[in-house]
Amino acid sequence: MHSPLRLRLDGDALVANWRLLREMSGGAACGAAIKADGYGLGAREVVRRLAGAGCRDFFVAVWSEARALADLGVSISVLHGVRDADLGDRPANARPVLNTVEQVRRWREADGGLCDVMVDTGMNRLGIAPEDVASGLLDGLSIDTLMSHLACADEDVPLNEQQRVAFASCAGQTSASRMSLANSAGIALGAAYTFDLTRPGIALYGGRQRAGHDGIRQVVTPEAQILQRRCVPAGGIVGYNATFTAPADMEVAVLNLGYADGYLRCFSGKGIARAGDAVLPVIGRVSMDLTAIAVDAAPELAEGDWVALDYALPETSALSGLSQYELITGLGDRFDRVWG
Ligand SMILES: *Cc1c(COP(=O)(O)O)cnc(C)c1O
Repeated sequence: MHSPLRLRLDGDALVANWRLLREMSGGAACGAAIKADGYGLGAREVVRRLAGAGCRDFFVAVWSEARALADLGVSISVLHGVRDADLGDRPANARPVLNTVEQVRRWREADGGLCDVMVDTGMNRLGIAPEDVASGLLDGLSIDTLMSHLACADEDVPLNEQQRVAFASCAGQTSASRMSLANSAGIALGAAYTFDLTRPGIALYGGRQRAGHDGIRQVVTPEAQILQRRCVPAGGIVGYNATFTAPADMEVAVLNLGYADGYLRCFSGKGIARAGDAVLPVIGRVSMDLTAIAVDAAPELAEGDWVALDYALPETSALSGLSQYELITGLGDRFDRVWG
């Protein structure tokens, strides 16, 4: 039984994006951030495709995400580290990224084995202080990757270089065999930022934040089925609160798509659907499960037909005011995920 909503997911574009980011990573290995169910695309399918292309390092936020992928056998780092509650049920292919002095203590006491460690170099989000690294907090720990995270990699600000220098000063002070700093935007900051391993997320899925991402291809396209086609007479209104009034007799189609699916109300009167070459503007308010579009440009379009929503991430972010991340992680589970 298929849903009246589907996400078209371009598997070739996903793999091409990873290859481009790997190339931009130079000699560094290129991993993949797949938290939040692969940024909403479906983590299993993302892992399958990227592992097939040669990706060896995957990043999730929490242990339930790692457990759901345990059978795939790929190496997974759990970015939020480890709580007492996480110690019991850990898949063999996953390790924590330790973020706090307490997590380091917990991991030592549990004799947890190989881990990663996050150092905070100025974002003040997660991670231990560089001074704690220097004073021996990590001595004796078996560390695969020492990492840090850039706060403003998509901007040209002095903080990027400050964080890079602070991170580089941690080199050689731990047992870590690799160092990793760059996310998608960080990779585009250049060779000084790529260290041994990069961790792109959003650019894999079609996000473009810097000039270096120009070759990144769109991966995600929402499509919705038409539930009803109708004629609205001149002066008739469309949708909640009558925010749209037909200037003349017009044809309107109502889509099986709404803000409960992640197509938020900021697309009211702004979004664009397409059928072939026809451009079909969203009119009136997006409601919870329904969205109206003007379809005079597509006389043949009927109940049951599919339309595609414009969803190129940088452009759609500028149009809607949502971040490129929010645009894809918010797409709900009423969408069938259809890989092509
Ligand atoms: C989410 C995340 C990434 C990926 O960031 P993008 O901006 O999506 O490329 C990398 N590292 C860490 C620690 C993250 O939390």
